[in-house]
Amino acid sequence: MADSSPLDNMLAQMERAREYVDIDDGIFERLKTPERTLTVSLPVRMDDGSVEVFEAYRCQFDSARGPFKGGIRYHPTVSKDEVSALAGWMTWKTALVDLPFGGAKGGIICEPKDLSEGEIEQLTRRYTEGIRRMIGPDIDIPAPDVNTNPRTMAWIMDTYSMYQGHAVPEVVTGKPPEIGGTDGRVEATGRGVSIVTEEIFDYLGTHVGDADVAIQGFGNVGSVTAQLLDERGANVVAVSDVGGAIYDPDGLDITDVLDYVDDNDGRLDGYEPAEEISNDELLTADVDALIPAAIENVITVDVAERMQADVVVEAANGPTTFDAASVLVDREIPVVPDILANAGGVIVSYLEWVQNSQQYSWEVGEVNRDLEDRLTMAFDEMLAAYEEKEIPDLRTAAYTIALERTANAHNLRGLFP
Ligand code: NAD
Repeated sequence: MADSSPLDNMLAQMERAREYVDIDDGIFERLKTPERTLTVSLPVRMDDGSVEVFEAYRCQFDSARGPFKGGIRYHPTVSKDEVSALAGWMTWKTALVDLPFGGAKGGIICEPKDLSEGEIEQLTRRYTEGIRRMIGPDIDIPAPDVNTNPRTMAWIMDTYSMYQGHAVPEVVTGKPPEIGGTDGRVEATGRGVSIVTEEIFDYLGTHVGDADVAIQGFGNVGSVTAQLLDERGANVVAVSDVGGAIYDPDGLDITDVLDYVDDNDGRLDGYEPAEEISNDELLTADVDALIPAAIENVITVDVAERMQADVVVEAANGPTTFDAASVLVDREIPVVPDILANAGGVIVSYLEWVQNSQQYSWEVGEVNRDLEDRLTMAFDEMLAAYEEKEIPDLRTAAYTIALERTANAHNLRGLFP
């Protein structure tokens, strides 16, 4: 099963964790299967007057613990299988950090780089129309993911609100603050990644301030993580995007790299102060921490065998294949799993949703404190399970907590009808 699909990886991770928790067979079957997935086709009038039809999905994986919650991704590799895995991971993530949500995910098969802003807006509004009967503040609350952002969330909120006849800010999170978004949401996932990176270094008896770090992906999550780790004193020696990586063994000047990317259409290529290397070289660089923050399945068995990092912090969802994860366990390279490492985003999304429900807004310090408290508590619970149950790796420990909580919710609610 070397480089199996994200869904196969997730199901295999669930089976491994099940060895350490007592879950009824029938409930485990329910946990393995999404509640529903909607496929929609989206006709969009392009700028040249032609009509193009895009395929898109919304998968609602599990709602035993609360309304569905999960991002929307625009990418050419989106598939039904991928959104199902991502929706499952959202379920385990919200359970692990103990938010009153289930898990969902959506995606549109498209290459946003080839679309104008107007075409992306039309696509977003048509997608919202396509899924509007299955979303809502108490039903399913989307958020940003790869290639979507606060601008996209504003269009979704507006389209949904037009159908309702009144403003419904709490139908999405990750909105611009001017229309009900919370301060701190854009940085939340990267902030969470930087917090757990510091935690794992402390646990291993080292210090993040002395660490060399490589980060794959320089989008929302990767760039904020780079900035915050830089602020914590770490040496960010390599960062990358889809076009390749840049490397400086003395540490990149992250502020300068961010300014360069801003002036270069969001791309890293051509950044002269650093050496250009490939994404593969970044993943196998001799660093203290490797932080994949792009897409899934980038840490394959081959990469895991050649990896020189001492610890991996999974900012992306599903960056390590199931078999590669086993190689890292054998090589005793600790991995902070995605369902904890990138949970900062959904934690602050929850805080945004709560603020919208109360029609009240908190200052950013309060949001960041709450984020840190919830994340460090979940980190400690994962470590406690890892040590007390003598589980071989942190991912399995995290899954035992998430599966147990979700199974308990199913057990308490029973089976209808
Ligand atoms: P983004 O679109 O802002 O950035 C993605 C980055 O990955 C870009 O730099 C892009 O060039 C790079 N990339 C894409 N394909 C690549 C490839 N094949 N090789 C190397 N780099 C590649 O997306 P994001 O919001 O930063 O999300 C990144 C990851 O974090 C995803 O796995 C996402 O599911 C996960 N995540 C995001 C959030 C969030 O709040 N945005 C929350 C939790 C998890």
